[in-house]
Amino acid sequence: MRFGASEIRCRSCQQLYPGGDLDRYLWCPACRNEVRRHGIAWARGIGIVACAGLATYLLLRVHPSRSYLPFYLIMLAMTYLLISRIAMAVVQGYYRARGRVVGVESRDEESGS
Ligand SMILES: [Zn+2]
Repeated sequence: MRFGASEIRCRSCQQLYPGGDLDRYLWCPACRNEVRRHGIAWARGIGIVACAGLATYLLLRVHPSRSYLPFYLIMLAMTYLLISRIAMAVVQGYYRARGRVVGVESRDEESGS
């Protein structure tokens, strides 16, 4: 072995890190941050699209009355929160399952694993 026994490769970027720096999926902090950043971006976009879709449906089909406007706004806010959380979990799960995150290049040229 040419590296220390306590050093483990990140599964995403293939860099060596002390074992304590990696999480249970063997991802380094930089790759975790990158996954979180991508997850937040996708979650916001999908949450806004879901919110806009629900708002369009409400305006065109339900014709909300002014007296119930606060409840519809709360419904839209809850939709955004719930959908964006689900989207965040799905996007992060996708990158974790893929084993690599966009934007973090593999700095090790060794092929195969
Ligand atoms: Zn990494």
